[in-house]
Amino acid sequence: MSDPIGIFGGTFDPVHFGHLRLAEEACERLGLAGVIWSPAGVPKHRNTPQTDVKHRLAMVELAIADNDDFRLDKFEAESAAPSYTVNLLEHLRAEYEDTPLVLLLGADAFLGLPSWHRWEELFELAHIAVFTRPGHELTIDGMSPLLAKHFAKRAAVDASRLAGETEGVVLPSLLTPLDISATEIRKQLAHGGSPRYLLPEAVLDYIQTNNLYRSAN
Ligand code: ATP
Repeated sequence: MSDPIGIFGGTFDPVHFGHLRLAEEACERLGLAGVIWSPAGVPKHRNTPQTDVKHRLAMVELAIADNDDFRLDKFEAESAAPSYTVNLLEHLRAEYEDTPLVLLLGADAFLGLPSWHRWEELFELAHIAVFTRPGHELTIDGMSPLLAKHFAKRAAVDASRLAGETEGVVLPSLLTPLDISATEIRKQLAHGGSPRYLLPEAVLDYIQTNNLYRSAN
């Protein structure tokens, strides 16, 4: 079987070092062949204002440009349909039939899974690696009863499990804690503050050149 491939979805509004460290540490610690980044086009789980997908794509492209292990996938970004992760995984599963796929999620995203479209099918399409995130504790008590049931049945302690099966394992994973969020970065920019050193310089340059996040855009 080929080495597992990581799949990292998000709004990336904007992409920041929390995202980049998650993908980097996932590659290193989970033995991934690489990480596919998929910016959502029309996300379903957010109420916050949206930056046009063309800008979010451009920012991810700049952020990952110098990393050969990272690749951008425009399937969700270019679709007019809502960005449901189950559709992304079905699309990638058709391409990578016998390769272990690993959906990469922060703890906050994992705890919110039960609100996602056809969420229980995600376990039949990919493994899920859940990364620690400051402020979001991954405990059974914090999970809905159905999510806790999946977790108890599927949780693994050893990353080598990911290579032995193509999907179905949930792997809690430690991540260097970086309390960075896109929401906070947007707030700083809206108030004229500096998010420098929270995200790549090239991304900040892009934000400034394109006047993003200045007000309610
Ligand atoms: P927002 O603050 O607007 O919700 P975000 O910073 O959480 O944005 P998303 O694009 O929503 O960014 O996140 C994509 C994925 O990255 C999610 O699975 C999320 O849990 C994870 N993630 C984002 N920031 C971090 C972080 N600092 N540490 C760990 N995981 C993170």
